[in-house]
Parts: sequence; C-alpha cells; structure tokens
Amino acid sequence: MELITHSLTGVIIQILCYKFLIFPINLIVTMVFAFFSHFIIDTLAKMTYHIPESRKEDKFWLIWHIIILISSAAVIVVFIVPFWLGILFANLVDIWDWVILRTIRNRKKRKNPESNWANLNKYFIHNIIDWIREKPCSWLSNLNYRKYGIILEIILIIFLSILIWIFL
Ligand SMILES: [Zn+2]
Repeated sequence: MELITHSLTGVIIQILCYKFLIFPINLIVTMVFAFFSHFIIDTLAKMTYHIPESRKEDKFWLIWHIIILISSAAVIVVFIVPFWLGILFANLVDIWDWVILRTIRNRKKRKNPESNWANLNKYFIHNIIDWIREKPCSWLSNLNYRKYGIILEIILIIFLSILIWIFL
C-alpha cells in the first residue's frame, strides 16, 4: 500500500505500545509489530488500486498519486516527532527493497550488465509478501488494476486516523 497507510499504522502501533507497555519493551514491540505490519498491509494491498508501473498520462492515476503524495508528506510532518520509530519500522521493508536494494542492483547493472546483478533479486523482502498474496491469501480478489480499489485504502486511512484520534 501507500506510504501514508504504512505510516499511520506505525503511528497507532507506537501509541498503543507506549500506552500499555513499559520501557524498553514498548520500544521492542513497536519495532517488531510495525515491521511486520508491512506484511499485513501489503497483503491487503492486493485489494487496492496499485498499478506496478507509473501511468502519468492517465488522469485518475495522476490525481490519486498526487493526493497520496501530499497526504503522505503531511502525515510524516505531523507525526514524525515523536512517532519516528513506528513510522520508520512500518516502512522499513519499502526502504530496504525500493530504496537501498534497488539502487544497489541498478548501479551494478549499469556498471556491468554482464555481472550477476539479478542475484540481488532474491533479497527483496517483497518476495515473501508476494508469496503470502499468491499462496495463503490467494482467495483475496486482486483489485490492483480496478480504480474502485482506492475505496479500501481510503477506508483504512480513515479507520487508522480515527484510532489515532481516539488513543492519542
Ligand atoms: Zn511494501
């Protein structure tokens, strides 16, 4: 799913952990739960609008992504202090796969196309998430190319925002 959904999940996990657990267990449980929340949220993302490639010529795609980008930035600005730990760990899988690993792999590919750059593909954590989506959760309908798939993401964002508002 999108940065905003993962970040809000990280925020609510940290709020609840700090509310109900003592130091340093609250820190550890926040990191573990926020990290693994990414697996659950990305599995649910099967039922949301999420085209793998960018479609800048498609107005719907463009507007949706501008809204997501601005609201994600707003959520991070508002919650980064003091909820950076939850936000960081909720997005760690994307940071590792799409920022760190992809950059290393593409640089390797660019420098030497003959090298074994494709070997790095096995270190993508999203491979595990893809497996969860295809095997144990194969019954979830795939709405990645359906525009109305944004509905589940919006519902989830509203639900998480209400939870944060209640517990903060
Ligand atoms: Zn992800």
